[in-house]
Amino acid sequence: MATQPLYLAWSNPVRIHWGAGCFQQLAADGPVVVLADRAALSYENETLLLERLGAHCKAWSWFQGGLASVALARSLCDELWPVLKEYPDAVVLAVGGGSTLDLAKVLRYRLADTRTAADCWRSNTVPPDVTRHALWLVPTTAGTGSEVTRWATVWDTEAQAAQKLSWSPVDGYSESAFVDPELSFSCPLRQSRDCALDSLSHALEALWNRNANPIAESFAVEAARLVIEKLPLVHEHPGNHEARTALARASLLAGMAMSQTQTALAHALSYQLTLDEQMPHGEACAVWLPMVWELALGAAPGCDAALARVFAVPAHEGVQYLRGWLDSLGISPRDLRDTSVGRSALAQEMRSARGRNFIASR
Ligand SMILES: [Zn+2]
Repeated sequence: MATQPLYLAWSNPVRIHWGAGCFQQLAADGPVVVLADRAALSYENETLLLERLGAHCKAWSWFQGGLASVALARSLCDELWPVLKEYPDAVVLAVGGGSTLDLAKVLRYRLADTRTAADCWRSNTVPPDVTRHALWLVPTTAGTGSEVTRWATVWDTEAQAAQKLSWSPVDGYSESAFVDPELSFSCPLRQSRDCALDSLSHALEALWNRNANPIAESFAVEAARLVIEKLPLVHEHPGNHEARTALARASLLAGMAMSQTQTALAHALSYQLTLDEQMPHGEACAVWLPMVWELALGAAPGCDAALARVFAVPAHEGVQYLRGWLDSLGISPRDLRDTSVGRSALAQEMRSARGRNFIASR
């Protein structure tokens, strides 16, 4: 069959440094302001980074865990914007999981008037008097893929009804990402599982997506297959570095695919679970994957063909494999189609920003 001509507006400017040891080669030739996750950076790597940056390191702040909230972003900006103001050419360097990297994506847009910062984040608008600092991202989990996308999730827990904000300036990509699988070797098992489930969710969401394209599909299918094969190995033997390296690669590939397609329905449904039940992001996405997979069946031949490649069985059979696979990892899938309340919640999320990307949304 002839292939339809296709225009691909592929765009991702992030310079990617990949591979074991690339973190140790990180070097700066100008001022740097560091945001690092205390739980994710070993003392050995902290010392190493300090030595490599030397006098270029102008400030260092620790992310102590928790949601990347508006309040946390504000206190971080209060602390670091004065230093960034003193060094307008400073690079913001973030080392940590998705929350740390997302906070850095906010921090790097330094506003002249700090009092209006939260208004800008809430309306996702960048005022003309902003100073945009260069951004280098070092993920320590495998992973959120945040290092290669231009979106940051910020939780607005000060609003009357807490909600998820998506901070996404058009030039929001980092300049450089350093994806060193060794940094993820010490990630705790539960967190490793949830982060890999997030990667799988990014991969599948790039397939059942209105913005899907054949190039992103290649990245996404490879990423999904890697997570499905390798996560159970890490679950059984957390010290399996070969499998952990494969998960880091899967995270990067899924992130690249997602950077072109955005996420879709499973992510749209996940946010309320995270707010209501404090469920980790990866798990909160994964519980919806079998239902969303079934909803996607038959929506587009190309999507069915891509899903068939994930478990190497026809797409309508693959969902049973997915259920069994999730069950083996302790994940209980959820389904909204059984009750009228559920069906109306599902219909509502289909109309949300991410839900509209879903290939079977009307
Ligand atoms: Zn995600």
